[in-house]
Amino acid sequence: MVGDCTTTLNGQVAEKGQSVLYTPAVFCGGVDSHQISECILWNEKPRKGESCVRTIYLPELQAMAQEAAGQIDKVYLHWSAGHYGQPFADYHVNIDRDGKLYTAVESLAELLPHTWRRNTGSVGVAILCCAKATTEDLGKEPPTEVQLTALAKVIAVICQEAGIPLDYDHVRTHAEQADEDGYGPQTTCERWDLWFLRQGEDPGSGGEELRAAANAMCA
Ligand SMILES: [Zn+2]
Repeated sequence: MVGDCTTTLNGQVAEKGQSVLYTPAVFCGGVDSHQISECILWNEKPRKGESCVRTIYLPELQAMAQEAAGQIDKVYLHWSAGHYGQPFADYHVNIDRDGKLYTAVESLAELLPHTWRRNTGSVGVAILCCAKATTEDLGKEPPTEVQLTALAKVIAVICQEAGIPLDYDHVRTHAEQADEDGYGPQTTCERWDLWFLRQGEDPGSGGEELRAAANAMCA
């Protein structure tokens, strides 16, 4: 049935990165089977049966977090450094500018390459934004408020349902983890995702703000 996910709108075989049509019920249970949605191919070669990034909703995320309880104990927070509307299969949860969620996995316990040397037992969550951002200028696609609120909600849901403490030891921005591992803003600045959330805010404030917002949603 993978063919359904490699056929373009015109019935041609899709190339890497092209949008295609598929029937959500085939791969993506829980969505109205009569509805035809857009699906976006992986940026790499699709794997059989998991060839698309699909839209998910909070109840499905809740269920996935419950199922992964005991197998995951860390959450890493990213921005994609790509465009709005451009999800990546490297993250368990992708959050678009309008708060829409995408995933390419069936389980949050699946091993994905999101955070250098920190991928075992961890969940990668990314907001889709910050193409061409620099530490001086977040650019033309900065995080939106809806995106940041959705990120806090996703953190809250994952931590609550999977039983992960919502604190610095368990939930970190990529900027914070990169600083711990010697490639963050304090050293090489190779990765500095969410070091701050809005232009002009204090460097280093992003993680605390997101954890506080997520904790407030757990109350
Ligand atoms: Zn990152």
